[in-house]
Amino acid sequence: MTFRIPLSSPDITQAEIEAVTAVLRTPHLSLGPQLAAFESELAAYHSVEHAVAVSSGTAALHLALITLGIGERDEVIVPSFAFIATVNAVLHVRATPVFAEIDPITLNLDPVSVGQAITSRTRAILAVHTFGVPADMTALQAIAQQHNLALIEDACEAIGAQLDSHPVGSFGDLAVFGFYPNKQLTTGEGGALLCRDSRHALRLRSLRNQGRTGADWFDYTEPGYNYRLSDLACALGRAQLGRIDEILSSRSQAAARYWNLLAGIPGLECPQLALARRALSWFVYVVRLPEDVDRDHVRNALAAQGIATGRYFPPIHLQPAWRAHPQAGFERLPVTESVARRTLALPFFNRITADQQEEVAAALKKALRYD
Ligand SMILES: *Cc1c(COP(=O)(O)O)cnc(C)c1O
Repeated sequence: MTFRIPLSSPDITQAEIEAVTAVLRTPHLSLGPQLAAFESELAAYHSVEHAVAVSSGTAALHLALITLGIGERDEVIVPSFAFIATVNAVLHVRATPVFAEIDPITLNLDPVSVGQAITSRTRAILAVHTFGVPADMTALQAIAQQHNLALIEDACEAIGAQLDSHPVGSFGDLAVFGFYPNKQLTTGEGGALLCRDSRHALRLRSLRNQGRTGADWFDYTEPGYNYRLSDLACALGRAQLGRIDEILSSRSQAAARYWNLLAGIPGLECPQLALARRALSWFVYVVRLPEDVDRDHVRNALAAQGIATGRYFPPIHLQPAWRAHPQAGFERLPVTESVARRTLALPFFNRITADQQEEVAAALKKALRYD
């Protein structure tokens, strides 16, 4: 189904088109100068030593777990209110995801619940900066240090967000980004890792390229993957990173316009425009409907007017993909389940117009019978 007002839409300018076209006129379509430049610009933007670009955010998560030595019988603490990729990556290394609760305001891992989820098998905390809101990394770093756990940041939804004036991606042992077309920065498909340890960077570069050592194309130190990102994608990423401030500011303006249109609707919870200690990077605009409202009815009413909406996120611990797993228990996550039942993502992208947002707001009010 195509919608008149889509949920998301990539913002590709002439600069991106020219950057990609220029690469096509060279013989370097992969492992070329665009890759090296994209990586050093990503590292510089985050003030972190190393960036390694890969083919997707999921690939980045997979390599992060391998690089930290996480495998069978290890437990990784994750939120259930997240994108399925986060947990799929844990399952790919045969480790066990252990679900912790979220904070009802930030929708990020609740450090108290994380503390309660630790066992003798816990090896890592995988914190997601959900919807572009930084997680409480100070509290999570303290827990990780106390229990000798690795800390991974899934910053796929949060490029450019900050906690205490430090960019997300600069807190964990490793941090992961994703550049799918609905993200703030896109390379079509793509992802990246940030790290401080040069041994991690070396291993990541080897793993993304079949386990090659680098010295010779036909020397392999361990079984690796083809998780390379093409120079076409890297050129696109560089053009997007070059105007990331403009991208993030048009998104926060759109969020502020939604607030003005929607905050007065009785029972509707809108995301906070500002949160203590944090600079937000708007990924999606997700409202919470009143408890007694039938979300499917609202979605259908908006769809009938050509307006797309999304259910970000159905809890992962309730997905058949996890329920069928031998380690699946009777997880009860009341905050996650209550939030997830009520969320509704509204159309949200760089170039959404005030008229489009007014139309979405009017349709939502009508569906909620508050017009
Ligand atoms: C987008 C996203 C990913 C990675 O997705 P890919 O499609 O593999 O690039 C991972 N985690 C979260 C939380 C995401 O939103």
